[in-house]
Amino acid sequence: MAFKIFPLISFLFLIFILLAPSGHAKRSIPSGKKTSAFDFIKKLKGCHKGNTTKGIHELKAYLEKFGYLRYPNKTQATDDDFDDILESAIKTYQENYHIKPSGVMDDETISKMTTPRCGVPDIVNGTNYMQPRNRNHKSGSSGVHVVSHYSFFEGEPKWPPSKTHLTYRFLPNVPAVAMDPVARAFQKWQSSTHFTFARAQTDQNSDLVIGFYRGDHGDIDPFDGPGGTLAHAFAPTNGRFHYDADEQWSIGSVADAFDYETVALHEIGHLLGLRHSSVEAAIMYSEISAGQTKNLHEDDIAGIRDLYNL
Ligand code: ZN
Ligand code: CA
Ligand code: ZN
Repeated sequence: MAFKIFPLISFLFLIFILLAPSGHAKRSIPSGKKTSAFDFIKKLKGCHKGNTTKGIHELKAYLEKFGYLRYPNKTQATDDDFDDILESAIKTYQENYHIKPSGVMDDETISKMTTPRCGVPDIVNGTNYMQPRNRNHKSGSSGVHVVSHYSFFEGEPKWPPSKTHLTYRFLPNVPAVAMDPVARAFQKWQSSTHFTFARAQTDQNSDLVIGFYRGDHGDIDPFDGPGGTLAHAFAPTNGRFHYDADEQWSIGSVADAFDYETVALHEIGHLLGLRHSSVEAAIMYSEISAGQTKNLHEDDIAGIRDLYNL
């Protein structure tokens, strides 16, 4: 009988193989309760000045990472004392994310702070890049004074005028499925700017380099496992853009996963010289939720045109 059962078992095994989730985008995160690198913030619900709740030091580290505070000494930075400096940092965060600046860890603040985001800080050396500034746009043929929300890196670094064609390459650690979405993201920036992009013909010498890393990979900002920080990129003319390999990545909108192309659009914005925008619909807004897809927004286009005098 065995010789009759064997083909049946083989057949069932084949079916199992065919139906089993394949590979790349499905790293095994246990179903049910998912943990995210920013989940610790939820424990601080309702916290305010004067509290000494366990875990406040983690919030201090979070706000320091994204530029909202810097303590004069390590003791203050690592204790669980909800002090004046922390309250003021939370108020600045709330202003940047259009929440009533109460300085209290209310529901809305918790919800914003736990949303996955880009690792590039919102504030550097005390300069709050997300605060709206008034600018006169020469593009405003109507003469209307436009309030813009996009921002640039310190010193407004950008690609030189002669450098309008930029090549990119993928490090060997980039999964093949990510390549088309990244190419589409470059295409979208190309159709809205004076830049043209092409994948480098060789694996050496390109202006831009895309990589996939987990945890500490030698950058100032180590990745943090699933959730939390999703990616980061550097100002011109550095050219490096890294995805966090510990995320669930997807092509398009997939529940509990992050869209390769949307995140690439955002990070390419950094590679070209844009910093974060406080406009929620802009691609340069720092946060993105799982399952969300976004496109370039007029705020992003206005930013790049302003930076390069287009
Ligand atoms: Zn960013
Ligand atoms: Ca992460
Ligand atoms: Zn990196």
